[in-house]
Amino acid sequence: MLGLNTNKVVNMRWLMNYLREVFCKHDWEREEVKATLKDTYTGDYKTDIRVSSTCKKCGYHKSYWKYLKYLGD
Ligand SMILES: [Zn+2]
Repeated sequence: MLGLNTNKVVNMRWLMNYLREVFCKHDWEREEVKATLKDTYTGDYKTDIRVSSTCKKCGYHKSYWKYLKYLGD
């Protein structure tokens, strides 16, 4: 069954990421970029710092807004 195979691959990938998290003492390479986003409620534009961190050892990547309590990418 194709569906089952796909599921297994997804689970493996999830597991790999999980193991990376547990065993890699991440060595973050930080990058801060000024970015503008539009407030969906007021229509205003806001400028904030987008922090992007990549692990030099395993390649794990995460990014977030520095000051805004804005969730999402
Ligand atoms: Zn890492």
